[in-house]
Amino acid sequence: MLKLPNCKEVALALLQARDNGGHPLPWRQRLHLRICRACAAFGRQVRLLDRAGAAWRHYSETDTPDPGASAPKQK
Ligand SMILES: [Zn+2]
Repeated sequence: MLKLPNCKEVALALLQARDNGGHPLPWRQRLHLRICRACAAFGRQVRLLDRAGAAWRHYSETDTPDPGASAPKQK
């Protein structure tokens, strides 16, 4: 009998994959995502939050110039 990870393990794997820079999930987790609506929805939310977070980081970085990251603009 095939043993699939439970929802908790899949959610954890999704978050870890995101932290690793979008590494692909192991096939067991991917299979679970195909048959479990809750985890599929969670995966979409993680990606959405990831994009929103990246956009927010970009916004906050451009809003407050980071000393040392780039030379200040001169007019
Ligand atoms: Zn699940």
